[in-house]
Amino acid sequence: AYGFSERVGRVEPSATLAISNAASELEAEGHDVVDLSVGAPDFPTPENVTEAGKAAMDAGHTGYTSSNGVPELKEAIAEKLRADDVDADADEVIVTPGAKQALYETVQTLIDDGDEVVLLDPAWVSYEAMVKLAGGSLTRVDLAPHGFSLADGLDDLAGAVSDETELLVVNSPSNPTGAVYDDEALEGVRDLAVEHDFAVISDEIYDEIVYGVEQTSLASLDGMADRTVTINGFSKAYSMTGWRLGYLHAKGDLISQAGKLHSHSVSCATNFVQRAGVEALRNTEESVEEMRAAFESRRDMLVELFADHGVDVTVPDGAFYMMIPVADDDSAWAEEAIQEAHVATVPGSAFGADGFVRISYAASEERLKEGMQRLFDAGLLGD
Ligand code: PLP
Repeated sequence: AYGFSERVGRVEPSATLAISNAASELEAEGHDVVDLSVGAPDFPTPENVTEAGKAAMDAGHTGYTSSNGVPELKEAIAEKLRADDVDADADEVIVTPGAKQALYETVQTLIDDGDEVVLLDPAWVSYEAMVKLAGGSLTRVDLAPHGFSLADGLDDLAGAVSDETELLVVNSPSNPTGAVYDDEALEGVRDLAVEHDFAVISDEIYDEIVYGVEQTSLASLDGMADRTVTINGFSKAYSMTGWRLGYLHAKGDLISQAGKLHSHSVSCATNFVQRAGVEALRNTEESVEEMRAAFESRRDMLVELFADHGVDVTVPDGAFYMMIPVADDDSAWAEEAIQEAHVATVPGSAFGADGFVRISYAASEERLKEGMQRLFDAGLLGD
């Protein structure tokens, strides 16, 4: 008789699902919904990247590639990492269908039943699910009381880790807070990782989307090269969510170990998509800057709007998300926001941040203003 694995029973469907279902239902009924729950840039993929993908298809790049990726893309990725001061070689890269797959393979490669993995809350929802699927045990360090600042929360992190810790996940710029961790914070992580000899996943998928601050790659710090798995992808910087392209970089045996999982599960990332990835890394400076600048001016507009209405938010330095303090029961608040004001947000409790909701500003200024006005008018936000 068939039944479901104990493993799959450990995880829940994505928390954003309930909200997006409600949004779809309302839209089907003819309502205009302002959707601020999305994690995808609202721009088209840069045209030259799309053209490169088409040209690659026309040129017949439609078969399997070597499992870890085409050499030209791995080289372009290694160059990008070296530009971020990471000692990187093309052989140390696995190209994956999205950063999510890179994270999944890394966690599966490092974590056994009972191994301790530390997350910095609020954290992107899939880290928890991936750790549970691998059988790891979770330790969570809450940065919300520190205004989402890791530098201010280092003592809490120091209290949480030990020689038993196997892995820490760092995500800067952060989804959902938009926090960008400064060098003091990253050096603090380094000191703890070296002291207790644990590995660190550095998820840098929002690294191109920062506002007037520098994003440092964790693997570039002394002592971190051999214990950091750097994760990145093309979804956010190049607005390529549906292309599914990402990668992991690490030194030493991790690549051969994770490479086994990779070859037995996905075989390889899509051939012509990898070719488009080379174009994205090499020839999109202007498009990336245009998108970054648009996100920055939306952030500024929102911060000003919240200040005008007496809503006290932590100003994010990167990504395209902001955490807004709401009622204690953030799920009930988000439910009311969608049903009464037709504005979709994600409850903070999904990320381990009760009392907040996440809004995404991957939406036009006009739609953002409309969404905020509805929340103010409904008495859900502001004084
Ligand atoms: N990491 C973070 C922090 C994210 O927010 C996302 C997407 O939302 C991903 C990884 C996965 O991105 P993708 O699989 O599209 O490359």
